[in-house]
Amino acid sequence: MTSEERLRYAATVTGFMPVEEGLALYELARSLPVGATLLEIGAWCGRSSVFLGAGAAERDGVLFSLDHHHGSEENQQGWDYFDPVLVDPHDGRLNTLPVWQHTIAEAALEAVVIGLVGESTLVGSRLHLSFDLVFIDGGHGTEPAWNDYHTWAPRVRPGGVLAIHDVFENPLDGGRPPYEIYLRALEEGFSLRSVCGSLRVLERLA
Ligand code: MG
Repeated sequence: MTSEERLRYAATVTGFMPVEEGLALYELARSLPVGATLLEIGAWCGRSSVFLGAGAAERDGVLFSLDHHHGSEENQQGWDYFDPVLVDPHDGRLNTLPVWQHTIAEAALEAVVIGLVGESTLVGSRLHLSFDLVFIDGGHGTEPAWNDYHTWAPRVRPGGVLAIHDVFENPLDGGRPPYEIYLRALEEGFSLRSVCGSLRVLERLA
């Protein structure tokens, strides 16, 4: 499958990533060194996994896609981002894993995108890898956002990229935690490389 086909498909996958920002992720992934190792935190139904995976595939890279697949706080019933179609009738919980798997198969990315199913901090306590790119787009509450930052930002290799989604300077546009971890990253050795919508792309100084 060509990248063009993958990108067209990504735009049809259920999710919250605007196409323009998804394309920015794709460009970012394909700008990494050959054989790069990427990590995304927060996969949902695989929309951003395909944007990133399409770029990684061009460079013989691998994308680890981490999610417990039971949805973040803001995805649960009664919240704005709840989708009843994704509830498992057996236990009444959200389960995006079957849809995510379908998405990766449809995009012919099973040899590029590897699912990690579990809690971010638990996975991080045992998985000792460094990454060419870390993309944080998991839970947007204070605790999950800071856990993801503290667990994974230090794993960005020198010269590598940290991308954060849903960063809003203006509180009227969205929640604070992604913006707060973005500010912390700027204080902790990362510099801003580019902006697209609410996507902030930072680089770890070598
Ligand atoms: Mg997001």
